[in-house]
Amino acid sequence: MPDLMPRYLTAFHPKRLPHRFVDVLIIGGGLAGLRAAIEIDRSLSVLVVTKDQLRQSNSIFAQGGIAGVIDPDDRFEDHVADTISAGGGLCDPAVVEMVVREAPQRIQELIDWGTKFDQDAGELALGREGGHSHHRIVHAQGDSTGREVMRAVIDWTARLPHVTTWENSFTLDLLTDDEGCRGAIVAGGPAGLAMVWARQTILCTGGAGQLYRETSNPEVATGDGLAIAWRAGAELRDMEFMQFHPTMLYIAGSARTLVTEAVRGEGAHLVDKNGLRFMGDFDPRLELAPRDIVSRAIVLQSLATS
Ligand SMILES: Cc1cc2nc3c(=O)[nH]c(=O)nc-3n(C[C@H](O)[C@H](O)[C@H](O)COP(=O)(O)OP(=O)(O)OC[C@H]3O[C@@H](n4cnc5c(N)ncnc54)[C@H](O)[C@@H]3O)c2cc1C
Repeated sequence: MPDLMPRYLTAFHPKRLPHRFVDVLIIGGGLAGLRAAIEIDRSLSVLVVTKDQLRQSNSIFAQGGIAGVIDPDDRFEDHVADTISAGGGLCDPAVVEMVVREAPQRIQELIDWGTKFDQDAGELALGREGGHSHHRIVHAQGDSTGREVMRAVIDWTARLPHVTTWENSFTLDLLTDDEGCRGAIVAGGPAGLAMVWARQTILCTGGAGQLYRETSNPEVATGDGLAIAWRAGAELRDMEFMQFHPTMLYIAGSARTLVTEAVRGEGAHLVDKNGLRFMGDFDPRLELAPRDIVSRAIVLQSLATS
């Protein structure tokens, strides 16, 4: 059939599909997608499409919290140094500097939009997590930080008249021409299968969380954005930087539950099957070593004692 577009995953005919036009199309309704929507000039029309419910994303599942230099005794320089060290020297120092210095302002923004972080004697309560030399993690309802942040951000976004959201709308492919990305083909929105044309398209589809049998990621985290961007000819980079957790509750036959890093921040120890605390053999930071080191240590200790 000559009028089919072979680059695309699905066969479609542009004349037979509904067309929608927006200024900005955001694919993904997690924290990254909604944060991008909030930032966009209110004179522009924004469409956020998400393949599940808005309340179903990795962002909702985030537990321990958000790092920022909040305590007057903490220092940006220390947070930068901790981050560079946890990144094994692979971080872009300029990006680290920007993220660390903007963090308090971004946390305040979330508070302004309605997020209720946990407090201690009227001040933000600060936890500690792996790789951090100081207590600097703000959290909400203990370890339900993502749920609370997303509650506030979803409510805030819903009030913005220039932002429309399509839930249960699966992006199948990006629409491209010689000039670049022109939008996407979206299935399941109010128009059924539709071509959504946009002046700008922002991909915020989260990570690839289903690579391993054991995972703390929800089922929606399947790396779709990476796949459709690659299919459309984009160059992918830094593919090894996938967020993961070293510790989960394993009970044969039941669902896996993350044992948040904040537990180790509060002083929990990792012990092997003989009750031996083993992290001292691997890193002087013990249980608060960065995640890759903790994961490697768990695997090596498990192999050595199996
Ligand atoms: C159990 C757990 C605990 C965590 N704890 C923390 C923590 O304490 N602190 C921290 O900073 N981070 C934590 N994280 C990581 C954090 O949650 C993620 O890094 C962050 O939420 C990613 O946000 P995102 O918006 O990029 O992606 P997501 O929140 O995953 O959102 C992706 C969105 O894209 C949509 N989507 C995907 N594919 C398509 C498609 N084909 N078509 C349409 N829509 C699509 C999804 O429906 C979803 O709305 C945790 C993660 C997990 C799983």
